[in-house]
Amino acid sequence: MLVSNIGYPRMGRERTLKKLLEGYWGRVLDEEGLLAGAARLEEAHWRQQVRLGVELVPVGDLSLYDHVLDTAVMFGLVPERFEKAGDGLSLYFAMARGGPNAPACAMRKWFNTNYHYIAPEWERKPVLVKNLPLQAYLRAKDTLNGNAKPVLLGPFTLIKLSKNAPEWRRALYELSPLYAQVLRELDAAGATWVQVDEPSLILDVTEEEAKALAAAYRKITEGLRGLKIMLQTYFGGLSQYARLMALPVDGLGLDFVHGYPENIANLERHGFPPDKWLGLGIVDGRNIWRTNLRQKLDLLHKVFPYVPATRIWLQPSCSLLHLPVSAADESHLPSALRQGIAFADERLTELRALARAVKEGETVVAAELAAADQAQRALAELSGRVVPAVRMRVSALKETDFQRTAPYAERRKLQSRRLALPLFPTTTIGSFPQTPEVRAARARRRRGEVSKEQYDAFIRGQIAEWVRIQEQLGLDVLVHGEFERNDMVEYFATRLQGFAVTSNAWVQSYGSRCVKPPILFGDVYRDTPLTLAEALYAQSLTPQPVKGILTGPVTMLNWSFVREDLESDQIAYQVALAIRDEIVDLEKAGLAIIQVDEPALREGLPLRTEERAPYLSWAVSAFRLATGGACPETQIHTHMCYVEFGDILEAIEAMDADVISIETARRGGFLEVFKRSAYHRDIGLGVYDVHSPRVPEVEDMERVIRQALDVFRPEQLWVNPDCGLKTRQQKEVAAALKRMVKAARRLRTEY
Ligand code: GLN
Ligand code: ZN
Repeated sequence: MLVSNIGYPRMGRERTLKKLLEGYWGRVLDEEGLLAGAARLEEAHWRQQVRLGVELVPVGDLSLYDHVLDTAVMFGLVPERFEKAGDGLSLYFAMARGGPNAPACAMRKWFNTNYHYIAPEWERKPVLVKNLPLQAYLRAKDTLNGNAKPVLLGPFTLIKLSKNAPEWRRALYELSPLYAQVLRELDAAGATWVQVDEPSLILDVTEEEAKALAAAYRKITEGLRGLKIMLQTYFGGLSQYARLMALPVDGLGLDFVHGYPENIANLERHGFPPDKWLGLGIVDGRNIWRTNLRQKLDLLHKVFPYVPATRIWLQPSCSLLHLPVSAADESHLPSALRQGIAFADERLTELRALARAVKEGETVVAAELAAADQAQRALAELSGRVVPAVRMRVSALKETDFQRTAPYAERRKLQSRRLALPLFPTTTIGSFPQTPEVRAARARRRRGEVSKEQYDAFIRGQIAEWVRIQEQLGLDVLVHGEFERNDMVEYFATRLQGFAVTSNAWVQSYGSRCVKPPILFGDVYRDTPLTLAEALYAQSLTPQPVKGILTGPVTMLNWSFVREDLESDQIAYQVALAIRDEIVDLEKAGLAIIQVDEPALREGLPLRTEERAPYLSWAVSAFRLATGGACPETQIHTHMCYVEFGDILEAIEAMDADVISIETARRGGFLEVFKRSAYHRDIGLGVYDVHSPRVPEVEDMERVIRQALDVFRPEQLWVNPDCGLKTRQQKEVAAALKRMVKAARRLRTEY
């Protein structure tokens, strides 16, 4: 029984890769420096994994931006528009981040994770440009000897994740000989195993696809002498197991964490091919809770009747890309919490303990088992884990708590009387530029170099300045600017009970961008207002309405590491109640508009169709609970971004917000979706793309509004940028908003 890893966090414990990349992009590091730095990091990661007991070490997983982009470039899937982008790294980064006159390739969410990949575009027939797994294998050979396991994204998933790929049978036909060549070269170089990732196999695979896959894999693996293929799946169980287990490969990697109990049922129903190895994903590659080792030993004993230990690799459930590197950096956490979590390195240690328990007997790892038991108990008893008052409040919830006291139509009348806004009211999504000055002030406060009073005064200064700017620009609904927030989730997590904030638990989101999800470990409640002071101060400076901005319960959950001892709906309701209390406070303080952001609502949607309805049900209920306490005269907005709305429009309607603002206003297809649904509520159109530094023309924004007027009535439309402005420069923002106001005013004269 071997210990194998599927992928290791790329950034490094000190976020070295981020620094290298940003150094290179900022031209303080040349290509050689970047590549040398990345090679050192890669080697350090190999050595670390060996040290932790990994016997099959993934190589080629340390991508400089994204492994899907790597695969596209490897097969020459480079769109025409990058013709002038050069080659090598400059072409690679142009595809990822945009190049001269060439917008970047689309970025999409990697399955249901928070990682984003670059979608390949098929404008031409693929060719093998360079054999990346081979290069990685050759780099690793000396360090790892026989333990190097090159990894490669499989053809089925590559096609599924691509934009405008040809008809899939043809695409598979075109790719097969190229994959065959990649593997033949690896074989010739002496590699023993290659991991071919096919996570798309956990989605619905038709019979026809399964057949074509079998043919493709036969072609791909033809004539290999020593090289074996581990076909790796993750993020769920296989619904087509019976078909897929017959594929002509040497090993099948299955997820027994997110695919539990489905994959156990698969074994029980169909057995396991005696000539194959099982990559057994047994510890969680997605969440951070320490593994209950005894439970996992029981799981192993359920597997053994079908697969002998000698044919099993113990693995994480997926690549450890989705976990921070080491929990050793989190010593500031309460000790029971610190002992109760496991990041990437601790996961690998757990795998080794499990392997030893099987091979050498449980007594050999008695200490590890006892420590895991003890940690489990300590976590359960951790103060704050169960707060009776919170549990009671949730269990006493009634139907009416999830409802506003008046129906939408009635609220709309009351609110428009109260607010008396013009047609096409203008507003923003919440944040204004987080300038170096703002960041520096926050850092000084964190280091204790300035007092709370000094820091608060600084924030008030920023708010006052931007209230004045917004008034001058002529915006109709103002915001305070979110200067006090480092991040829309972490800020609230810091103020709510039941959350812990980590110091170094960074996880790659895309490219060099990392996020630091808080840990939701206990019962959540609010014991002090969250944003009241800032909102109130802003409102005190102006007669115009200031919109309060809160982060919604679903986003708080989806962007945190969440406890697993309580159902998601219960956790979400706890968070919702805290937000609800804040809304009541904001209302009392005189705010007439409150926006509850739910940018992560759509991305939490489960991969499998049958799990979607239950998710949407609690997600929508949580939002309704958070906002249900607002009086009819208070206008509730919500904001969402990166969203394909088609499949959740019903849920959006069910959230019962008075106004929604969405990011995809600039995407084609968006209006069609709304046209079909006859959506009747107010909608904030994202009239320009905040992610681009380009200042849009008045006409551009006017066009967006006019197009929307084909679908919506003028009274329904709000005018705003498509997301928060925190990453932009002050000058750009003022210029763009000035034009935005002008566009709205022009249209007002016509309606
Ligand atoms: N209110 C947040 C902001 O403006 C919303 C961010 C988001 O949608 N991701 O920054
Ligand atoms: Zn947004």
